[in-house]
Amino acid sequence: MGENTFMGVPRDKIDWSPRIDYNKCDYCMECVDFCPHNVFEVRENEEKKLIVKNPNNCVVFCRACGKTCGPDALSFPNKSETTKAIKVIRKEMKENE
Ligand code: SF4
Ligand code: SF4
Repeated sequence: MGENTFMGVPRDKIDWSPRIDYNKCDYCMECVDFCPHNVFEVRENEEKKLIVKNPNNCVVFCRACGKTCGPDALSFPNKSETTKAIKVIRKEMKENE
C-alpha cells in the first residue's frame, strides 16, 4: 500500500475536496493563500480563474479554507457520508486480501 492513505484507504479513492460555487466566488484568492497543499490552481486568462486542480492533496475532513472565504463560496462533502464510504472501501479491501 502507498503512503498516501487515510484510515488505511488510498487517498485517491476518497472524495473529499472543496467545491467552488462560481456564482459566489469573487476570486479574492484567500483560499489559495491559506492552503499550503497545492489544492487550488489560479488560471489568469480563463473564465474560471480558480479551479480545484489537485483534489487528492486536500487533507481529508479539513475545511479550513472554507472559513477564510468571505462570500462562502466553498463547500465540502458530507462528513458522515464520506466516513461511511471510507468504511465500505476498507471492508472491500479486507475481503479482497
Ligand atoms: S476564498 Fe472564496 S471567494 Fe475567495 S477565491 Fe477562494 S473560493 Fe473564491
Ligand atoms: S480544506 Fe484544508 S487542505 Fe483542503 S484545500 Fe482547504 S485548507 Fe487546503
